[in-house]
Amino acid sequence: MKLTGRRQSTHVEDRRRMSTGAKAGIGGIGAIIVAVIFTLMQGGSLTDVVGTVVQQGLQGQIEQPTSANREFTQEEQEAATFSKQVLASLEDVWAQQFQAHGQTYEYPTLVLFTGSVQSACGQGTAQMGPFYCSGDQKLYLDLSFFATMKQQLGIDISSSASFAYAYVIAHEVGHHIEFLRGTLDRCHRKMSQLDQAAANRLSVKLELLADYYAGCWAHYEQQKYGSLSDRDLADAIDAAQKIGDDYLQRAAGRAANPDSFTHGTSAQRMYWLKKGYETGDWNTTTFEPGELD
Ligand SMILES: [Zn+2]
Repeated sequence: MKLTGRRQSTHVEDRRRMSTGAKAGIGGIGAIIVAVIFTLMQGGSLTDVVGTVVQQGLQGQIEQPTSANREFTQEEQEAATFSKQVLASLEDVWAQQFQAHGQTYEYPTLVLFTGSVQSACGQGTAQMGPFYCSGDQKLYLDLSFFATMKQQLGIDISSSASFAYAYVIAHEVGHHIEFLRGTLDRCHRKMSQLDQAAANRLSVKLELLADYYAGCWAHYEQQKYGSLSDRDLADAIDAAQKIGDDYLQRAAGRAANPDSFTHGTSAQRMYWLKKGYETGDWNTTTFEPGELD
């Protein structure tokens, strides 16, 4: 994804030097593997934990600020720059789309962190993957997740500026769009009235809608800048496939159990991402009429 020379968002809090440095070295990689298995057992996904964040609050260790005076590596700097550029593009597209609908887009803040972080939804950790918290309208991203996607999940990513990474950020902003449109709160309210399997079915639709909005963003980004290559699209679709609940459950050595799905199958995630990209029509929704009433 070519974003060279593009502006970087200023709605960014860089807390990487404030967080616990729990991810360095071999121990860190081991911790990530453990965390993946843990989140799979909870029926969650590594992509994000937006449902559980809001319902249960985050569990995690106490945040301990460290001096962390080391210089960031070139790779880390590039990942941060790329993330800020992606967020800027998301701001431009969504501000314009909201304006075209006579609405004002409220910019979310991207929080970059290392290890663990405090959000209005509670404590978050790198092992949980990126997440969005509607309580403070911030998306939380530990940049090491990009390496996890490549190494642990085996997602084939062509470059450090891949659309597959942008898709992760765009998905989290997709939850912010859901929040601004009232869908997120309505869905969580409805979920609290249902049994677990029925609530999970709604959670899947919320996740697929975030995928769909990510696709819609890519539609307008491509229309204006032509920044996406065929390889970028293939990378993101591969990523969408490998973070499908059925794929992750099978990868963890278990039979896929649809009642426990919270993010959708590989086929569903690919379908909605592609559909958003092809149409850009963000008035389409994954929910049935009246389903959230
Ligand atoms: Zn999500």
